[in-house]
Amino acid sequence: MGSAESKTKIPADARRLPSVDKVLQSPVGQALRERYGHTVTADAIRDALNAARLERAAIATVADISATASAALELAHKPRLTSVFNLTGTVLHTNLGRAQLADCAIDAAIEAMRNAVALEFDIDSGGRGERDNILRDLLCELTGAEDATVVNNNASAVLLTLNTLAFGRKAIVSRGELIEIGGAFRMPEIMASAGTQLVEVGTTNRTHKSDYLNAIDSETGVVMKVHTSNYRIEGFTAEVPTSEVAAIAREMGVPMVDDLGSGTLIDLAPYGVAPEATVRQAVDAGADVVTFSGDKLLGGPQAGFIVGRKDLIAQLNANPMKRALRADKIRIAAIEATLRLYRKTECLAETLPTYRFLARSEDEIRAAAQRLAPLVGETLGSEYRVTIADCRSQIGSGAMPVETLPSAALAIKPLTEGGRAPELLAESLRQLPKPVIGRIARQTVLLDLRCLKSEADFLANLAAWRSPQVPK
Ligand SMILES: *Cc1c(COP(=O)(O)O)cnc(C)c1O
Repeated sequence: MGSAESKTKIPADARRLPSVDKVLQSPVGQALRERYGHTVTADAIRDALNAARLERAAIATVADISATASAALELAHKPRLTSVFNLTGTVLHTNLGRAQLADCAIDAAIEAMRNAVALEFDIDSGGRGERDNILRDLLCELTGAEDATVVNNNASAVLLTLNTLAFGRKAIVSRGELIEIGGAFRMPEIMASAGTQLVEVGTTNRTHKSDYLNAIDSETGVVMKVHTSNYRIEGFTAEVPTSEVAAIAREMGVPMVDDLGSGTLIDLAPYGVAPEATVRQAVDAGADVVTFSGDKLLGGPQAGFIVGRKDLIAQLNANPMKRALRADKIRIAAIEATLRLYRKTECLAETLPTYRFLARSEDEIRAAAQRLAPLVGETLGSEYRVTIADCRSQIGSGAMPVETLPSAALAIKPLTEGGRAPELLAESLRQLPKPVIGRIARQTVLLDLRCLKSEADFLANLAAWRSPQVPK
């Protein structure tokens, strides 16, 4: 917001513009000042006057200028982190913030935000406490591990583990597991940042026990297994199970680390998802350290969990890097409440949004589509055809990369042939007060309704829809 007007010579045709002061004194000006403060409001009024001058508006009233300033201020004060309707069909969408928290976790986080909390304070003795004590018992109970610690996210968990156990030493990993999960998380690069020398063993599709055995030497810090989170190698393949890698590592006297990625605390078969090793199974198989995320299948806030052998977790906690990666009170509160829900796994589909979304049946979702389709069709008008399409939802966040769940979508097809009509429709849906995010397939905008929480909210939001301006 500039204020160069004082130095520019006022052209004759702009003489009828009101002064900044006059607009500030007007009722709307006063209201804006009250809401946004004097400086910001005066700047916005100056900008509106400059714009009117540039447009050579001969007359712009106080009302015109204050309306322009008001619109600009409202836009500038809209939160950048807007909530959206995730109708992409990806339940744990990394770009849309992954897991939505359970109500009890939200309440716990709010309580912690609002109050002083016993974060590192021992209520019994009145002395200093340990923030890791808050979650240790729950994590050990739910995973069967001896000890546990919590950091910022799973990338941090892997970094801290490697830096602590294999700094200046070698980490042995199968070539089939050298993952990139997007962005800056590529296993070879994480290893380099941790000061660990990566030793690749086996081939892309086949790795054998002997590959691990031959690679381990006196400079080995850890043997590592990494969950192949966003791909699957199929065909002529061989992978050494965790229990056998762990046995080899134990025999050779080096710790075995298992990066589970998403990590799940329960068997997902009842949700129609193929079985995947739980954290407890990885611990039982003999992994010395297991790392996993808080905001993937676990359904909590962003966090990284490290569970495993007591002596190794103690080493991790003693690393100065731990201080830089630790979780804050808000997240610890939300994690505690989320983990407690796992004591009653039979209720997870009601208590935890992630499981509620996964548990929704195809029939239930299609029924929602049938209710919504005619109403959405009415709002969008005769230029679009709204039908119900079968589709498949993904779990997302690298949890079970090729696993999908049957679902139903609103399929919105612009009747104008070709061109950018589907993109323009998708854009107009993103411009709604609460942006609606879908996906485009075959010239059709698909809105997968698996993660739609309220049909009424969706329709009320859609009422503000404006037909996209099709360029000529
Ligand atoms: C997702 C994932 C990570 C990173 O976890 P964040 O919680 O996103 O930091 C690391 N390893 C694997 C195998 C993953 O799937």
